[in-house]
Amino acid sequence: MIKYNLTCICKESFESWFLSSAAFDSLKKTKLIKCIYCGSSSVKKSVMAPNVNAKSNKIFKKSKIERNIKKQLLDVRKFIEKNCKNVGGNFTTEARSIHYDKKSSQGIYGKATPKETSELLEEGIEVVTIPWVDKFEN
Ligand SMILES: [Zn+2]
Repeated sequence: MIKYNLTCICKESFESWFLSSAAFDSLKKTKLIKCIYCGSSSVKKSVMAPNVNAKSNKIFKKSKIERNIKKQLLDVRKFIEKNCKNVGGNFTTEARSIHYDKKSSQGIYGKATPKETSELLEEGIEVVTIPWVDKFEN
């Protein structure tokens, strides 16, 4: 997942998470990326630095947005927990056996080091790293 700063024609800016830059491009093309303030799909990736002179109400808005992002990530986590099998520390082994034996199409999730993840990717095994948010934080 990657995070982009987006700006809208209404001059507001906000952050949003995407699976990849390609995912962003295809969502953008189909106008599925909408401004969280006005609902317009005329948003674009921002190259501007965050406004350091932001007033306190802006900061409040920002923390609200961060909570929304966290909620989205929690939804991702719930979806994965519901639909995939937790293999914990055996993730790389299980991912390889699914890829090479083709015995199961069930999704799995678990833990892998960045090195293990890049090895899997080199072998052509599709893995996605997502920020795993804690359910019990507020
Ligand atoms: Zn807008």
